[in-house]
Amino acid sequence: MTTRILIFLSLCWVAAAAEPPSSLFAPPTVGVLLKFERQPPMMFVKALQHQVGAIFRPSSLDLKWELLRGNRQPGTYDRVVVIEMRGVCDPNQSKHPEPAADARVNLGWTIVNDGEVLPYAVVDCDQITRVLSGAPHRGTNFAFSAMYSFQSMYNRLASRVLAHELMHVLLRTSEHHQSDCMRSPLRPIDLATEPRLQPSEIAALREIMRTRGETLAQRD
Ligand SMILES: [Zn+2]
Repeated sequence: MTTRILIFLSLCWVAAAAEPPSSLFAPPTVGVLLKFERQPPMMFVKALQHQVGAIFRPSSLDLKWELLRGNRQPGTYDRVVVIEMRGVCDPNQSKHPEPAADARVNLGWTIVNDGEVLPYAVVDCDQITRVLSGAPHRGTNFAFSAMYSFQSMYNRLASRVLAHELMHVLLRTSEHHQSDCMRSPLRPIDLATEPRLQPSEIAALREIMRTRGETLAQRD
């Protein structure tokens, strides 16, 4: 009898210069399939694509975004990641504006099955709204939030969470590091700066196809 162990890699929130791409080969395509629980504002989807795309640009990975709807078949890509966008991904429509009661809040997670990181992650939009709603009232360092609208802060945090979970899935790792995209938990101050991939992370992302025995030079 096989025993399956499911582990949820949670990215928590706690209240408290990359090299340019130089690959001569066609970059691997990564299908990022977004599965929204509720219809999101298209402005949010575009902001998500733009900001996450900017984070991953130094890796040369070609992120292809799709919204999963109904029975429509997604396209074919070198790698596919399904991102479940849970809750109401619109802070203006959220029914959970009350501040988070706990200091640590799970904003997103990736599923690990028997030690294998699955290509499936969750971003919890309601929790993102909740921590941003509560942060200014808990004395956290949100002075920079005066520079941004609530929607802008929301977009930044959601993009940050999605990028973090993508790193887990693409690198097939459950590890965390003290870097912009692999840090857990996130802190309010992390939203004050533009996240950048570390050179080692860029190198690892550029190797993701080779780790499966595929040679980029032989790809179409
Ligand atoms: Zn994590």
